[in-house]
Amino acid sequence: MDNNKVSIVVSVYNEAQVLPRFYEELEAALAGLGREHETIFVDDGSTDGSRELLDRLSAADETVTAIHFSRNFGHEAAMIAGIDHASGDAIVCMDADCQNPPALLPSILQRFDEGNDIVTMTREERADGGFLNHLSSRFFYALINRLSDTRLQPNASDFFLISRRVADVLRRDYRERTRFLRGVIQTVGFNATTLPYRAPQRAAGESHYHFSNLLHLAFSSIASFSKAPLKLGIYSGLLFGVLCIGLIVYSLVMWIVDRPVGGYTTLIIFLSAFAAVLLFVVGVIGYYVGIILDEVKGRPLYVIEYTSTNKDNK
Ligand code: UDP
Ligand code: MG
Repeated sequence: MDNNKVSIVVSVYNEAQVLPRFYEELEAALAGLGREHETIFVDDGSTDGSRELLDRLSAADETVTAIHFSRNFGHEAAMIAGIDHASGDAIVCMDADCQNPPALLPSILQRFDEGNDIVTMTREERADGGFLNHLSSRFFYALINRLSDTRLQPNASDFFLISRRVADVLRRDYRERTRFLRGVIQTVGFNATTLPYRAPQRAAGESHYHFSNLLHLAFSSIASFSKAPLKLGIYSGLLFGVLCIGLIVYSLVMWIVDRPVGGYTTLIIFLSAFAAVLLFVVGVIGYYVGIILDEVKGRPLYVIEYTSTNKDNK
């Protein structure tokens, strides 16, 4: 069957403790698939021996490639690099800590064989992280879905399958610096489906995402998917404008009725009008910055799935 080769992209940052177990689980799953396969480990500047381990794996196993970054560039960059170098018809991105169980590969690839270009794995519940993480992730998705025009699947993880043609679109058209891969994948179109899974505890080692990283991820993904914050200026300018008119009327009436201290009315009118105009102008600038943002990102105006023509058959 065509469409058969699968590429596994694994981002690795100081995962020496779990790598052997992950590799074992992965190989078992891949062997059961009966497909041509390759595994691309992207070592995101590890300093704990993962580097040497990966070199040994790639020397011993011809289906394994290890790409080493010169320093830590972050999980997203690692996934992008892996996708760039993958040659499969289907590409599956996974974490190296066994939280994305390789045993699920058959059911993921079944979805691909059924004609899906994108299979987003959604976490049913996290065995780790606890209540606070859960709550903040729900809040985050609710917020980003309110602020942005595109619907993002809540609980989407960095565990997903994309077809070659989706990967081609990412390679060619989505090279923006501030990006949120999970979100981008859900906006390119094509046939997409989700597959819920239970993420087990991290097999060993510690999560690299601390609250500050998560906050950064949340901000950068909102910034890359929404221009709503830029409109704050316009809205607050309008709000202040209305308040200001009320205040002006009020102080004019007061001026006629009981003559306050000299200069008071002028000051109030000047200050409130000035604040409203200032905020409004900031909002207008925000609007133009939003346009610049869109242009700089250079996202595709459209993505063609396929074109039907009989030109060549004449
Ligand atoms: N990772 C990476 N670069 C980083 C941080 C993490 O490549 O700077 C990898 C890490 O090795 C793992 C995956 O990204 O394979 C997810 O990281 P982690 O398990 O720490 O995150 P969590 O599952 O806790 O969200
Ligand atoms: Mg993890």
